[in-house]
Amino acid sequence: MTVTRRRALALGAGAAGAALVGAGIVRQRRLDREPPAPPVTDGAGRLLWRNWSGIQLSYPALRAAPASEETLAEQLRSAPAPIRPVGAGHSFTGLVPTAGTLLSLDALHGVIDRDDGLHRATVWAGTRLGDLGPALVAIGQEMRSLPDINKQSLGGALGTGTHGTGGRYPAIHGDVLAFRLLTPGGDLLDCSATSHPEVFAAARVGLGAFGVITRVTLQNRPLSRVHKRVYLQPLPDVAREWPALTAAHDKVEFFAFPFSGLAAVITTDPTDAPLQPRGPDQDTDTLLSLKRLRDLLGPVPAVRRWLTAKLMSGLPPEESVDDSWKLLSNERPVRFNEMEFHLPRERQMQALTEVMAIIERGHHEVFFPLEVRSIAPDDAWLSPFYGRESGSIAVHAYYKDDYQRLFAAVEPVLRRHGGRPHWGKLHTLRAPDLAALYPRWREAMEVRRSLDPEGRMLNDHLRALFVDG
Ligand SMILES: Cc1cc2nc3c(=O)[nH]c(=O)nc-3n(C[C@H](O)[C@H](O)[C@H](O)COP(=O)(O)OP(=O)(O)OC[C@H]3O[C@@H](n4cnc5c(N)ncnc54)[C@H](O)[C@@H]3O)c2cc1C
Repeated sequence: MTVTRRRALALGAGAAGAALVGAGIVRQRRLDREPPAPPVTDGAGRLLWRNWSGIQLSYPALRAAPASEETLAEQLRSAPAPIRPVGAGHSFTGLVPTAGTLLSLDALHGVIDRDDGLHRATVWAGTRLGDLGPALVAIGQEMRSLPDINKQSLGGALGTGTHGTGGRYPAIHGDVLAFRLLTPGGDLLDCSATSHPEVFAAARVGLGAFGVITRVTLQNRPLSRVHKRVYLQPLPDVAREWPALTAAHDKVEFFAFPFSGLAAVITTDPTDAPLQPRGPDQDTDTLLSLKRLRDLLGPVPAVRRWLTAKLMSGLPPEESVDDSWKLLSNERPVRFNEMEFHLPRERQMQALTEVMAIIERGHHEVFFPLEVRSIAPDDAWLSPFYGRESGSIAVHAYYKDDYQRLFAAVEPVLRRHGGRPHWGKLHTLRAPDLAALYPRWREAMEVRRSLDPEGRMLNDHLRALFVDG
């Protein structure tokens, strides 16, 4: 049997843990079996809406999933406010909760139109990214960049500036050539660089606050095969080589493991090599092994560091070769809460060093790795990547752990280094803070007000971001 890097860690952590606490491991394994999603009813049996991690919830008066733009326009005109579009509910911030109307585009999915010569496709915004992969394969196309998971809807991904990695690749909205917006008044606007250009600039990353995007035209590319490699290296070496790694690889990111001194580097590059599909997900085993080490050794970080490094280091790289859309996104069944900031790229490694020090000094509960990526600039007014080469740092807290104390400690560092928050991930910034970070903030707010003068799209969270601050 081949012992992969992750399997060896899983076995090693199990053995080490057993040696330390015997039956404790058995108890831990039981704890690791968790429900795949938060319950859809509350303690009183009432139906509610919840986000993926379970921290955002609400009781919408009306839920609708219109099957046509005509029906959607009518609902926008007459449904009770706040009207909140929802995709897959994978945002961590309070963008979606509403006591008014929850509007899902789940009934509007699939490819509408295509341009084979230019590798473009017009797609319903309700399409989940995981369904878009095979739908585009059928027409010989693929998206240029994909996030870490592919459960999101296209509309939801655009709504928060969802991104993958790669110094030359913008976030998903950077590949949007046009979209159709149904305004809160029920009007239909076809927006692009030449048609309603100010709405195109303001609402391309729109937090669902400008109306509902129904169709999106994407600049894709021909199907490509890539070689994905995952290997471990000392974190200081990776941090030092990060600019060179970013320049050398088509796409690269790394996961920095607290209490180990190690990072897992993931590179993805075009190849003609024969197919070598990736095996079943093993990241989850690794993560749960790290959790076991946290549970057993959290209070003794020196031993935890020694054992984690011993178990992880020296393990062989993982290699796979397949269609790019199959290798870029992953399964992430262990729920968490997340904070992510996008920094000027030249500040990213210093910020990472400081964040890691904070975690290793005072947050022994952390066992998730930090995710570190590069994103190319774009010109959408509310894009966190507006006008600058960006480097992101994401910090995760297991969904049962106290994320507030961790994020309160980390956020000041990320802000001090000029970070802009991911709109879908937890942060405490308000309108005045954001106005200082976004050069076109005022114009974006004017466009929003002109489309939604009565504030029908605004819930409490959006009011704090856009108005009350
Ligand atoms: C496990 C996990 C992994 C993740 N990995 C990444 C990653 O690698 N990179 C990254 O950038 N983010 C990542 N995220 C965050 C996620 O991509 C974003 O929060 C994304 O917005 C979620 O999409 P969704 O379809 O669930 O949208 P929702 O969370 O349902 O909605 C997000 C926003 O979009 C708006 N919206 C939805 N549909 C429309 C529409 N049709 N028109 C207008 N507005 C609309 C909503 O009103 C809301 O403001 C991850 C999240 C999780 C839980």
